[in-house]
Amino acid sequence: MSNEKLREFIKTAMSKGLIGAVMAPTPTETSYTHALITSKRDVDKLVPIAPVMQWNGADMLRRITRLGDAPRKTLAILRPCEARTFKELVKFNQIKPDNIIVLVYDCPGTVHVRDYAKKKIELETLLDEMQSGKISDSVREACKICEYPVPVENVGDVGYGLFGTDDPVFFPLSEKGSEFLSALGITPGERDAEKWVRIHRENRAKWLENERITGGRKGIEDFLSSCLNCHNCKNMCPICFCKECFFEDRTIFEYNPDKYYDWADDKEGIRLPTDKVLFHLGRLVHMGTSCIGCGLCQQACPVDIPLYRLFGIVAHDLQKVFNYTPGITDDPPPVMDFREDELHEFEGLREGGE
Ligand code: SF4
Ligand code: SF4
Ligand code: SF4
Repeated sequence: MSNEKLREFIKTAMSKGLIGAVMAPTPTETSYTHALITSKRDVDKLVPIAPVMQWNGADMLRRITRLGDAPRKTLAILRPCEARTFKELVKFNQIKPDNIIVLVYDCPGTVHVRDYAKKKIELETLLDEMQSGKISDSVREACKICEYPVPVENVGDVGYGLFGTDDPVFFPLSEKGSEFLSALGITPGERDAEKWVRIHRENRAKWLENERITGGRKGIEDFLSSCLNCHNCKNMCPICFCKECFFEDRTIFEYNPDKYYDWADDKEGIRLPTDKVLFHLGRLVHMGTSCIGCGLCQQACPVDIPLYRLFGIVAHDLQKVFNYTPGITDDPPPVMDFREDELHEFEGLREGGE
């Protein structure tokens, strides 16, 4: 029903010449991936709301528009976390947004790709649980504690409300969205999703309190001890978009042999390889203020390290320090906005908090 109505929406927009392309998920053998379609006859190949998020859709839009505007007006159907990523990547000049209309929907959460391949948990199950006000046990950890599981004003253009209504409603999120709906002859509808947001935020508050990694450097080393250094987490992260990554240059981590023995003497032995923890800490410093909490880093980990507990919680702390909410606020990201006169309260601090 929710997907059916969206497909009709797309077909009407295409028939009226309001859009010339759509990007949305399409099924694969065992999962869903994003597809760009340019013809009305292909709309039925799309499952705009899918139970799995294999990629972050904003990352796909980055690939499409990095070098220039979309040549045709394109409707992108995104989850709230993807829409926040979109907004963040626009700020980083990674997406050209002018010819893109973003539709965002109330998200029931998504299942881990591996769980989906094994058990095929269907969207209807997730939607039914959402309608009964219950976050599904089947969805990913990041989804259970999602801070923004519904569309937010000025994050995207058109909202698609599913929570608490039998018949999904469209409503504008921006002026562009308002004009789009009126060109389609759609009267904006209303729904109240406050409860859906509240139960996620209550979960999140407990998670922030209980899942924090303690024990300083040793605690982080233990948490990452089974890491294979494969960098899948970085490759799936939509905010890690640098073409040349510092951590992919192996020569940077080549040390004189004496160095290893000195470290081993100092630290009562060292775990190898030594660049593993540094990779994660470096990544956190580079992108932590812009982490939008999609949890795809954790989904990508082949050894099931609950990585979002490290990234999500440190990102939360960092974002608080900079008073910055990625993908929501219009301010420039802190890494693009150097201010000489700030953070003096942290000057001179060392591990142990002297
Ligand atoms: S992180 Fe939030 S918005 Fe993203 S898929 Fe999960 S519930 Fe939906
Ligand atoms: S660090 Fe993880 S949760 Fe944060 S944006 Fe990257 S993939 Fe998403
Ligand atoms: S995906 Fe997992 S194993 Fe690979 S580098 Fe990241 S944390 Fe380590």
